[in-house]
Amino acid sequence: MKLLEYQAKTILRHYRLPLPSGQLLDGQQPPTLDWPYLLKVQVPVGGRGKAGGVQVVRNPAEHRLVSATLSQLEVAGHHSQGLYAEELLDIAAEFYLALTIDRAAGLIELLVHNQGGIDIEQATTPPRRYQLEAAPAASLTKQLATYLNLKGSQLDQLQRLLDRLYHAFTAGDLLLLEINPLILTTDQRLVCADAKLETDDAARFRHADLWPASPNGSANYVVLDRSGRIGSIANGAGLAMATVDAITAAGYTPANFLDVGGGSDSAKLVTALQAIADLPAVEAIIVNIFGGITRCDDVARAIITARQQLAQLPPLHIRLSGTNASAGRQLLAAAGLKSYDSLEACLAALPSGGGRA
Ligand code: GDP
Ligand code: MN
Repeated sequence: MKLLEYQAKTILRHYRLPLPSGQLLDGQQPPTLDWPYLLKVQVPVGGRGKAGGVQVVRNPAEHRLVSATLSQLEVAGHHSQGLYAEELLDIAAEFYLALTIDRAAGLIELLVHNQGGIDIEQATTPPRRYQLEAAPAASLTKQLATYLNLKGSQLDQLQRLLDRLYHAFTAGDLLLLEINPLILTTDQRLVCADAKLETDDAARFRHADLWPASPNGSANYVVLDRSGRIGSIANGAGLAMATVDAITAAGYTPANFLDVGGGSDSAKLVTALQAIADLPAVEAIIVNIFGGITRCDDVARAIITARQQLAQLPPLHIRLSGTNASAGRQLLAAAGLKSYDSLEACLAALPSGGGRA
């Protein structure tokens, strides 16, 4: 999932990267930042600067004018998804820094350019590229400092910044972390002025608290076939796809794809179950949970709670496996809910007539 700038910065702040102070605007309310500040339109694409989506605000009248203009601005066909107000930095230099995955090499790639702030494709020289197996070593940081013309205490700042970026990328399960520009301020601070982040959504279960909800709400939900008789819910995108495939292989038409992600939030399950129950042809819902960090007994409690809140649900065919599965299955049984330890057993218990069996 590609994040908006303010969402990306929330994650970077968690990993203690140096960022300008900023606030997402709430309606007409001006931010509690010192004048002048920047207003930045939040869109899921770059090139805002060129499109007039980043503007300086010096007083309340300008705030009203600029916020109204930016709310209406379209950047490459994308409407505003919010306005972010941010401390205005005094620029001494702008750099480009990015971490990505080099899939062919199976390593992390670091890209650095001494001309930041513009599209890297338009730079007159190519970026420096490095393959990393660990956080950048002191020798690499020294090379980069020379290239970026950073001296003295700036070298230590660069090392700390690279360490934290590397940690944010790996611990944070990111596919892309791009800082453009990385600003060197006139008072000698290195600050991540803009951030583009892409998360590895297969790892969502590890970051339920920090990552924003996926664009479809709290879960990844796709209606596949409104005439499908079998709905499904799984935790994790891979397991959800495998569940849909297994339903198909058993001779049924799957009605939907739904990845509830990690955790055991009953509100999330209520929303998920309701969405599937609302599909016209659904006769049964497979709930396929593999407990890893998420514990099956917690999921069982969430299922029981969710079921109590929903009056008219089709039968649930629950598979619990992994951490605390037997405790989870006992809870379900006590609540009158049948469960299975394998997906095969779950599928075998589906209503006949649609399946091959
Ligand atoms: P983008 O065009 O979508 O990548 O948006 P950015 O957030 O990168 O902002 C675009 C440009 O605005 C940057 O390249 C900078 O030149 C400028 N800019 C961003 N933040 C600041 C700041 O704090 N101070 C100043 N003076 N310029 C900034
Ligand atoms: Mn930028």
